[in-house]
Amino acid sequence: MENNLHIFIDRLKDNKEEIILDTLASKDLDIKNEKELIFRSPIELEAKAYRVSEELIINVNLKFRVSIPCKICNKLIEKDIEVKNLYIIESLENIKTFYDLKDEIKNLCFLQIPSYVECLDSCPSRQNIKNYFKEQKKENFPFSDLKE
Ligand SMILES: [Zn+2]
Repeated sequence: MENNLHIFIDRLKDNKEEIILDTLASKDLDIKNEKELIFRSPIELEAKAYRVSEELIINVNLKFRVSIPCKICNKLIEKDIEVKNLYIIESLENIKTFYDLKDEIKNLCFLQIPSYVECLDSCPSRQNIKNYFKEQKKENFPFSDLKE
């Protein structure tokens, strides 16, 4: 079976471009689910590869869904992740026959996953934390009234 993620630079001669449409299982990218990060859907890939002088340019769009724990209440929440119009640029000098997109896609996936998420984009438990912050603030500035 042909590997869609191998981009052969010979095929891109004479201003030809290659469109890659693929749906990748996370295990195809050697991604293992972890307790704090679960891939809920296959990764939809839409890419376009072409050459500009001595460089290979790949325009990448990705779409997938993950589960990450809410940073406040720790409940596992699902989040849609979309990567739009990202460019990978590689010098042709560094490519023997094909460029393997696999690791780059894997990296891009992880880069786009937010490190901080809240359930419902505003965790109901946040209210408790806000109150706590307010009290803290008062304690930190006990003499703020005296300046007036
Ligand atoms: Zn929450």
